[in-house]
Amino acid sequence: MGGEWVSPHSGKTTGSLFPATEEAHAQVASGDETDVNRAVDAAAAAFADPAWRRMPPSKRARILWKMAELVDQNRANIALCETYDTGKTIFDSSKIEIPMVAEIFRHYAGWVTKIEGGVVPLPGDSLGLRLREPVGVCGMITPWNFPLLLASWKIAPALACGNTIVLKPSEQTSLSALWLAKLGAEAGLPAGVFNVVTGSGSKVGMALVRHPKVDKISFTGSTEVGKLIQKEAAASVKRVTLELGGKSPNVVFADADLKAAVRGAATGIFYNKGEVCAAGSRVLVQREVYDDFVQGLVAMAGKTTVGHPLAEGVRMGPVCNAAQYESVLEWFEKGKANGARLVAGGKSLRDEVGGGKGWYVAPTIFADVDPAAPIAQEEIFGPVLAVTPFDTMEDALRIANGTRYGLAAGVWTRDVGRALTMARELRAGTVWVNTYNLYDPSLSFGGFKESGFGRDLGADAIASYTESKSVWVNLG
Ligand code: NAD
Repeated sequence: MGGEWVSPHSGKTTGSLFPATEEAHAQVASGDETDVNRAVDAAAAAFADPAWRRMPPSKRARILWKMAELVDQNRANIALCETYDTGKTIFDSSKIEIPMVAEIFRHYAGWVTKIEGGVVPLPGDSLGLRLREPVGVCGMITPWNFPLLLASWKIAPALACGNTIVLKPSEQTSLSALWLAKLGAEAGLPAGVFNVVTGSGSKVGMALVRHPKVDKISFTGSTEVGKLIQKEAAASVKRVTLELGGKSPNVVFADADLKAAVRGAATGIFYNKGEVCAAGSRVLVQREVYDDFVQGLVAMAGKTTVGHPLAEGVRMGPVCNAAQYESVLEWFEKGKANGARLVAGGKSLRDEVGGGKGWYVAPTIFADVDPAAPIAQEEIFGPVLAVTPFDTMEDALRIANGTRYGLAAGVWTRDVGRALTMARELRAGTVWVNTYNLYDPSLSFGGFKESGFGRDLGADAIASYTESKSVWVNLG
């Protein structure tokens, strides 16, 4: 923080556990309110300093571009941190996520020189100016499933707009954020512009949310914690962006390319062990093709190799932590108790795959799921799929929209009219048509309903890290 490495006020550290061995592979500082106060003071001072706020846009753009290059150059090491912290495969962290982090920084480097206001007509001899200015000190709180990627969705646009940042990564996955702080300094960010405080949500996260000098909180995590943050942030009228949970449906019509749909639906739930906010954790299938489709999904589950996240050819590593592992095992039982038909998985693979260690679970599918059952309504955040048949498009829409969430949805059909009707009627922040789980820095991402509000990525992120200022000029 403030451009230097600082020991935590508590003097304590916590072990970061490798999900494949359940053993600590690193020690991370346990921050507290005192550390947050120091970091926020550093961020507030850096925001007040014209060196950052009034930096020529092209210079700021070069710093962001340089951060992208440094992320690329350090890809192998950062990817290892992500895999050790989360259990995700090294293929996913090194070939997909970290390159995407670099792309996010490149994308927002391009925005820096194009953040414009406007001129508006006013009555009489007056001129109206609309200016966009940075919000100020942004507190960011991020989850463990895509540690650096989801943080970069917030950091890159916030820096592009000239804000300063205090980031609190998940206490389970802090290493990559610390890497980025080092790279930011190397790239030329002035001291205090980007600060990281590691530690728990209740101590570090809450201290950030309550701090009077923090102007905005950008949070990605569970709906439960998001609600708490919104309530606390109200005390100082902080701007709040909440990216929360989901129970996203993939809707498959009988006329779809069924081979592609089976593949899309299976990766939609098994990618990153189902620890994806937009995981397609429900699949709704038109009745005429239902039985064949379920068989296809079962075959895909069988082909999803579970194994050590550093081994070649593995598609699914262990789930991220002990609590998540226990919770997924409980859902196996709850699914059966809900009257659903277990057609794949439904068991721990700790012994079979990990030799008695590691939070390994089998890719799991429940068929004939009642849409009102908890397994079809609640976020599991693991590789557990609920499959339900439907008859008409109206049924599909009613079931798809019938949860408290609205993060994402998929539609599989060859009928353009139906695809677009579904896209229009689905209450979700993202709708994928004949594909699933694709992201691009230029397309906004965020939720309807209890999946949150505000948007990351795209032009929306620029809007959310700027304030609009109106200037009335009397020309007379
Ligand atoms: P979580 O809500 O438990 O924690 C998220 C972050 O909030 C962590 O850094 C945590 O330390 C912090 N936190 C916890 N309690 C806090 C408190 N009282 N005050 C302030 N901060 C606190 O979520 P998680 O388990 O890390 O992540 C999984 C959840 O995140 C899932 O619900 C998932 O759907 C959601 N998620 C959403 C998106 C999205 O873009 N919508 C993306 C990824 C994950």
